[in-house]
Amino acid sequence: MLHTAFVALGSNLEEPLLQVRSAFDELNSIPETTLIKKSGIYRSVPMGPQDQPDFINAVAQISTELSPFELLKELQKIENNHKRVRKIHWGPRTLDLDLILYDQEIINTEILTVPHPGLALRSFVLKPMMDINPKLATPLNKTIEELFINIDCSDLKIIDNDL
Ligand code: ATP
Ligand code: CA
Ligand code: CA
Repeated sequence: MLHTAFVALGSNLEEPLLQVRSAFDELNSIPETTLIKKSGIYRSVPMGPQDQPDFINAVAQISTELSPFELLKELQKIENNHKRVRKIHWGPRTLDLDLILYDQEIINTEILTVPHPGLALRSFVLKPMMDINPKLATPLNKTIEELFINIDCSDLKIIDNDL
């Protein structure tokens, strides 16, 4: 069966724009998975530690036959291919791929939380989601545009309108 999922992409090291652009292609190369839509690409001020470069952020809509856990594994493979080293929480990274939504599923396990807890709070997730589908329903009982209403986007700049 085909499932619809949304993946948030983030990078702030080693040519972040190229990291994000190539990650879109790599999402399309995951087995049984197709890239359906790309958001615009944004520049954002880092969360947490401020002594690191700005982030480049975007969201991808994909369709996949993989389970959420299989998909998470594939996302982590792509992160590892980008030589991601895990050091400090919310610290700098070459590529971060977060599974934001998977159909209307709610998953709460040690290794996977869906919807991603950042969905309702983060401008750099919700603004790109608005590019893709503002009317999309979420398991939080609100559409993307309803979640977006109270979000401050002053920390965000669009740099590439690649819709
Ligand atoms: P945040 O999740 O707040 O954006 P982060 O992306 O910096 O922080 P990571 O170090 O990339 O956090 O991930 C830590 C762990 O989060 C991963 O090992 C993974 O098992 C877990 N995780 C839980 N839910 C998700 C999800 N929806 N997408 C990706 N990883 C998830
Ligand atoms: Ca993240
Ligand atoms: Ca992550």
